Amino acid sequence: MGLIVQKYGGTSVGNAERIRAVAERVVATQRAGNKVAVVVSAMSGETNKLVELARELGGETPPPREYDALVSTGEQKTIALLSMAIQGMGAKASSFNGAQMGFLTDKAHTKARIKSIDADRIHKTLDDGAIAVIAGFQGVDDEGNITTLGRGGSDTSAVAVAAALKADVCEIYTDVAGVFTADPNMVPSAKKLSRISFEEMLELASLGAKVLQLRSVKFAMKYGIPLHVRSSFSDEEGTWVTREEDVMEKLVVSGVTYNRNEAKIRVRGVEDHPGVAATLFTALSEAGFVVDMIVQNMGLDGATDITFTVPRDDYEEALKLSKSVSSKMGAKAVEGDESITKVSIVGLGMKDHAGVASRMFEVLAADGINIQMITTSEIKVSVVIGEKYTELAVRSLHAAFVDDGAEAPVAES
Ligand code: ASP
Ligand code: MG
Repeated sequence: MGLIVQKYGGTSVGNAERIRAVAERVVATQRAGNKVAVVVSAMSGETNKLVELARELGGETPPPREYDALVSTGEQKTIALLSMAIQGMGAKASSFNGAQMGFLTDKAHTKARIKSIDADRIHKTLDDGAIAVIAGFQGVDDEGNITTLGRGGSDTSAVAVAAALKADVCEIYTDVAGVFTADPNMVPSAKKLSRISFEEMLELASLGAKVLQLRSVKFAMKYGIPLHVRSSFSDEEGTWVTREEDVMEKLVVSGVTYNRNEAKIRVRGVEDHPGVAATLFTALSEAGFVVDMIVQNMGLDGATDITFTVPRDDYEEALKLSKSVSSKMGAKAVEGDESITKVSIVGLGMKDHAGVASRMFEVLAADGINIQMITTSEIKVSVVIGEKYTELAVRSLHAAFVDDGAEAPVAES
């Protein structure tokens, strides 16, 4: 018995048959004695089609207000269809779009942020014995304009609804069985995790694992809403994403992940004095480039090198800007490399174990992989390596830390 929010992604509602299967699960959950609110995505491929149409008629950057009015229609279809299917099974259901459920956002079209949700309206529906079927991804601003939360935003909608309703759990139904220790397509021995902390999931999501939208994890962590990521194609338990205290087994490495969407820029031989990094990175941030890793070498003979990464889509432009800024600062050269990958290991248990980073470097060295950059945090070690070594690095690290995790030479510190 409880209040459950279920979110179904695009493949889970991809056609009439799939929607019927979702309706069956929703109704069964209610008949087991729960109150159920359902948040749905557009049918798979639908939002992409709408985005393409918008570009065809509205150009590279279509008018944002109209773009949101268009791309939000995918979810509008799904809520109506799912409500019909539920009612066809003899249960009560009402569909709600963003405006109808008072899903208030700011005015930032295409990437709106949530301000508040009218929980009373949904509670009334649930108290009335009905299932609330809610459109993900969309909201309205305080003037009634339709807004959207950014691609993949239904995850965030679901967590926000769960927080507003004070739900016991937010179940995220998707086309994979849960959160894995690595991309199963790359690492056949990758295992489904039964539990993982919000902190670990945040790292994995921001490092490239695509199971959950990053914002939804931040939201869940802020409001303490447990997430259960699971497959809509089976009844198997998935992965629980919960507070650190509720993760009993703190793995040293719970996930090995990679991100090929970055590129590296190196500014060589700039003067080693105050203000140099500020000048370079202010120029980059004012131009809208989001810099990820930054490494500055120890100065030698009054000069130093600064290396950093940017999203690969921004590489050409960021390189051009870096060249012009650096030449004014008297740098010797600016070089770039697009063929890089960031490979990371993440695990809560790292907090209590020494030697994790050095073990990672040993594993890569044994494969003859050169490490170009390194960053660490309390629960993560990331390295930049040549892109062609991605698979090799991910597989070897998974073998060393996950497959024979117990034998890794790490000690309690
Ligand atoms: N339908 C939207 C998208 O494809 C939102 C979502 O599915 O999460 O991005
Ligand atoms: Mg999604």
